This record gives sequence, structure tokens and C-alpha cells, in this order.
Amino acid sequence: MVKLHNLGYPYIGENREWKKTIESYWKRKISAEQLMDSLALIKHDNWEKQRLAGLNFIPVGDFHLYDHILSAALTFGAIPKRIRNLHSDRLSIDTYFLMAKGKANDGRSTTACEMTKWFDTNYHYIVPELDCTDEFELNPQCLLDEIKEAQAKAFDVKPVIIGPISFLWLAKHKNASFDKLSLLPSLQKCYQKLLMAVSELGVTCIQLDEPALSLDLELDWQKAFISCYSQLSKQCSILIATYFGDISSNLHLIEGLPLGLHLDLSNNSSLLAKADDILAKNQVLSAGIVDGRGIWRCDLNKALAVLEPVYRSRKDKLWLAPSCSLIHCPINLESESSIDPELKSWLAFADQKLLELTILKKALINPGSVKQELEDNRQLMEHQRASNWRQDKRVMEKVKLMESSKSNRKSTFEKRKAIQQEVLNLPLYPTTTIGSFPQTKEIRNARMRLKKNKLSQEQYEALMKKEISSTLAKQEEIGLDLLVHGEPERNDMVEYFADKLQGFAFTDNGWVVSYGSRCVKPPIIYGDIGRKKPITLDWMKYATSQTEKAVKGILTGPVTMLKWSFSRSDIPQSTIAFQLALALQEEVLDLEKAGIRVIQIDEPALREALPLQKSMQHSYLDWATRAFRMCSASVKDETQIHTHMCYCDFNEILPAIASMDADVISIEASRSNFEILDGLSDSGYPNDIGPGIYDIHSPNIPSVEQIIRLLRKALVLIPKEKLWVNPDCGLKTRDWDETLHSLQNMVEAARQLREMDTVEARS
Ligand code: GLN
Ligand code: ZN
Repeated sequence: MVKLHNLGYPYIGENREWKKTIESYWKRKISAEQLMDSLALIKHDNWEKQRLAGLNFIPVGDFHLYDHILSAALTFGAIPKRIRNLHSDRLSIDTYFLMAKGKANDGRSTTACEMTKWFDTNYHYIVPELDCTDEFELNPQCLLDEIKEAQAKAFDVKPVIIGPISFLWLAKHKNASFDKLSLLPSLQKCYQKLLMAVSELGVTCIQLDEPALSLDLELDWQKAFISCYSQLSKQCSILIATYFGDISSNLHLIEGLPLGLHLDLSNNSSLLAKADDILAKNQVLSAGIVDGRGIWRCDLNKALAVLEPVYRSRKDKLWLAPSCSLIHCPINLESESSIDPELKSWLAFADQKLLELTILKKALINPGSVKQELEDNRQLMEHQRASNWRQDKRVMEKVKLMESSKSNRKSTFEKRKAIQQEVLNLPLYPTTTIGSFPQTKEIRNARMRLKKNKLSQEQYEALMKKEISSTLAKQEEIGLDLLVHGEPERNDMVEYFADKLQGFAFTDNGWVVSYGSRCVKPPIIYGDIGRKKPITLDWMKYATSQTEKAVKGILTGPVTMLKWSFSRSDIPQSTIAFQLALALQEEVLDLEKAGIRVIQIDEPALREALPLQKSMQHSYLDWATRAFRMCSASVKDETQIHTHMCYCDFNEILPAIASMDADVISIEASRSNFEILDGLSDSGYPNDIGPGIYDIHSPNIPSVEQIIRLLRKALVLIPKEKLWVNPDCGLKTRDWDETLHSLQNMVEAARQLREMDTVEARS
């Protein structure tokens, strides 16, 4: 019989209980035991839910304290030297959080491990460091205990862990030219032992995730895959889980190996037939037929047409699952009460997706038993196609017009820079921040009270204005050169803008994990997007009235708006980006008209949305950078355009970033110790750069000396007249104490650097 399974279930809890519990532990409100006990409740609940949904296998090993790759790093003993030195008990929760956040409850602190985007998603994983890992060392206890825990409750388990090839591929050696594959034999030994231990517990199948197969893998990595898995497959029955991309070009790697294979069919369902041809009929083929990271209902009849031929040839060797782990999807649609009922009928969250799989399974085995469900789904899909409440002709006409016109700045960067310098009169090494300042309890409280009608719009606005004035005053006192209003009125950089644009809808509780305990609630793009009225204008007018210094207006860019929303799939992504660009262009021009001389358009998601396969990257970069220019390039020469990007490796797309032609780019660089700058200088990045000089995701305060050291490092590669000084991202998650202290040190570092320059110039 067809088997149902799941690659991973969202661990945050229906009401983000997971997040709240972990944060209580960090605040020392609960002990480690209490933490583990509370988390176990959420975990057991998740298992039970999946069993009730009819899954044949329950994933185990998909529940984490911070991140699944960090958990794997500890399982295989990939613990950086600086952390080993600090801790004798390598496997404690403290070690875990020390690696994640650079700070543990026992008071010790160090540099946190680097964090970066998980393939093309907005999830961030902790990058394993291989600094002293000549030998990996297996610590399987956590996984084994969890398997036993689930077995004791009579769950049929399928353990889940990242596979060796992807683990090594994702890991980083401090020497960039180091051959990571030379570590494979040692890692493979650990996996061998792990598989043996898992088999001894009576587990019949383990899922090893190998998302690296959706990349253009080089030949040595392909060979490593084959040699490694020809050994591992002897230990235990393995299901290789691939997702996020089309793995056609790597399918041959599985051929001939006794492995099961899971495929992500969300973008290319023809992959299933291809794999069915290549894989022996006794191999398990798992069809990721329900989109695991979208929120639209599955077209069940279309899915069945894909599955049926394979079911006929493969019977019980066909398994069904969501395309990828469900951590990228909100948990339960049932609890949503504010969303438009028609739109709601088009949606499916994690729990609903599991039910869709159940219907598909029944439809394969006994089509008569779900006739009604299939008919209802057919009607829904037909209705969706015919429905025209998504479209706005006016928007589409304007977008067409914009597409056909030029999207470049009027003058070259050099010319603009000279004009802007006259207007802004900034010192060497200008200091600024990325936009947000601490979102205090009071701010969040005010927003909650507004939502519950306990505060009038006027009262709320008065409170926010007070916040803006005091944030500006603090920046003046610190001595920052280019100020920001602090974004107190924004709950979230995407949701805030989406809320004021047509074409977006919102959930009450549609949270997904972004990094660590941080969750986001992406809006839903369901229709053509347009600006109803100015969005940030009044706040910015107020902010500029409060200070003599220049205040930078901050907007969220088109690609980030698109990528951090759940977007529609009935029109091209580029068209949605252009609609957003048009709305933002209107905002940019309004700000300029109101005398705002610096405008920053944040694009932290630009790199993350890059398609995984090279063949598709060019056209993406073309429309993504065009969307940025569409919204930014029509300003006057004297208006300075900034952009900001964070948490990713930009090097391979630097020419595209340069083509955006922002006057200033601020980038995250501190966690990777400024490695990013090598690429920037190699490519001769033409415009101004502000490499983030401290990690705002860590509570550690950078010292003046540390900052000067980093700036000097930057100055080796960046000419001094191009260098800006700023933190690596917005400060909303930090508290005021840390923020003031860090920024004071930052401004002092810039001041000392200028002074040293003057002394040098004199002598
Ligand atoms: N302007 C935003 C802020 O400062 C940028 C956030 C981001 O890059 N993710 O919060
Ligand atoms: Zn950022």
C-alpha cells in the first residue's frame, strides 16, 4: 500500500509555545529541566497530530532547540575550537546555545557561529565550522533518545537527519581553499555508526536529507556521493530526501544504489516519471506532491494524474509526502478567523496539507472512497481560475508602461556622489544605522492596544512620534552622522508595507520560523498590487521636523516584499516584483518631493531568492535588479539611494548588485569576519559600502578597539572615501542599553580613525 510520511513538522507550536519556552530559558525564568519538559509536550503533540492525520511514519529528529544543522554539528562533534576551549561538557545545552548565540546561560560568551540562509528559503541555519575537525566524533544520544521516546509511545518512527554530503557542503572551513571532501571518510564512519545504532533500535528506514543534490554539484562531490552511499546503504534502509530544486541532472547518482528517493515536485512534476524510469522498481520513490512551503491548496486531480502511472508500476514503493519539511509553512488554517472566507477556501497550511495527502492516498487505492473530495477540489480550482477579483487592469497597464521605459539613474555614480556630498556634507567614514531601533515592550504594547481598540489612532500616533523624537535625540547625542527615525511604527518590515498595499492579505497566526527562536508571519499576495496612498511620508515629514541632521527614509524593496510573502503562482514572479516596484517608486518620489535627501531600499532577500541552479540565475538577477532600479532610479542626482542586504554570501552575484547602482550599500559582514569584502574589492564594486561592523544578532557589545581593527581590515580593500560605518542589520531585537553602548563605541571608533588620518596627513 502507498505509504504516507512527512519530512519534518513545524516545531514552533500552534501558538509559538516553543519560542516562548526557549526564550524563558534564556531569560533564566525556567531551568534546563523545565525547558526540556515543556518542549517534550509540544513534540509529543506534533507526533500525535501526524499519527491522527494517517501518516505511516512519524519523523523524529526534526525537533530542535535552535536549528537542525547546529544539532547535526553537535551530533558529529563539529564544535569550533573556541567553544571547545570554553566548555568541558561538550554536549550541554550551554554549548548548544553558545554556538548559536555566542552567549550561554552560565555566563560565558564568545563569537557565535556564522548563520546563513537555508538554500533559497528565509530560514537561517548555523554554519558548521570545521576548524579543528580532522576527526568527527559521533554523539548520537539526542537522536537515539528521541527515537526511544517515540517508540515508547508506539509511534512508527522514521529518524531524520541531514546527510553527509550536504552536511559537508554546508559546513565551512576557515581556510576557504581547504578540500572539505578530505573529511568525508571520517564523517562517513560516524554516519555508519549512527545507522547501526538506529537499526539496533528496530528502525526500518532513516531519512537522510541531501538538498545539495538540487545544486549544480561538481564531479568530485558527485563521486563522493556515490562512494559514500554505496557504503552507507549496507547499514540500513535509507531514504534520500531532496528538495527545493529540480534534481534531474543528479538523478543518475541514485541509479544503481539501493536507496529510496524523495523528490520535490512542487515546481516540476515531470521529475517523478523520470525518476520512475531510472530507479529499480523495488526502490522507494517518495513523491513530494503537495507543496511544502506554499500555502495554496493542492490541485488534487492534477496531482493524481502525475501519481497514477507511477502507482501502477510501483505500488507500495510509491510514498507520498509534502515536497519539503513543513517548517516553512504555518501550522493550522482552522484557527484563522480574520481572513476573507473565499481566500481562506483556497489555502492549506501544514495540517491541511497532511489531509490532502490522505485524500491522494485514498484516491490511488480506492478512487470511489473520495469521489466527493476530488469533485469539490475540481470545482474549487475551476472557480479560482475563473475568479477575477485578483486582477487590477490599471496596475497592469502602468507596469507595462514602466517595463518599456528606461530604468537608470540620470548621471554616473561619480557625478551623483559629488552633488550629494555638497547637499549632505558628511564627514569621512560617515556613521549610520540600518533603520530600526529597539522595539521595546512599550512600543509593542501600544500596537497591541491599538489593535484591541484600547488606544485611538491619534493616541497611538502620538506615542510613536514621541518615540521617534527621542530616538532621533539619542542618535544626535551619540553623534551619528546620518539619522533614521527608528521604525517604531513597523511591526515587521514586510507586513507593515503589505498592510498598506492592495493585493495583500494577512493571517492571525500564520507564523513560520526564521532563525533561532525568531518567527515571521509572511503576508499573502493574492492579487495585483498597488499603492493606495503614501505609506511612510507623514512619519518621515515628522522625523525631519525634529532635527537639523539628514534623516534616511527606509523602505522595504520589491524582491524582499515578494520573497518574504507567500506569493501567488498564477502570474510570473517578475510581474509581481514589477507591481511592487511601481508602488515603491511612487513612495520614493513622494519622499523626495517632501525633501527627504536619503532613501534606503532594503533588499535583504535578494540573494536568498537566487535560483539554486545556474541555468536559471541569469534571468532572475535580470528582473530582480531591474525591479530595484525601477523603484529607485527616477530620483534626482542629489537624492542618495542606499540599499541594505544581510545574511548571505553575495560574492557570486556582485556584478548584479553593482548593477542596482545604489549610491551606498550596507551589508552584513561581521559574522563571516569581513570575508565578504575580498569579493567586493576583487570585483571592483564601484559605489560606497558600509560593511556591518558588529553582529546585531548577538548581545555582545563590540569594543572601540575591535571596531577599529575591523575598519582597518576593511580599509585594506575599500578606499577610505567609499567606506561607511554601520552595524550589520537593524537594531529592533536589541535592548536600549546594548544599543547605546555599541553605537557609542562605533561612533568613537570612526572619530578616532578620522583623527589618526589627520595626524598621519600632518606628519
Ligand atoms: N531596515 C530594517 C531594519 O533596520 C532592515 C532589516 C533587515 O535587513 N532584515 O530593521
Ligand atoms: Zn539586515
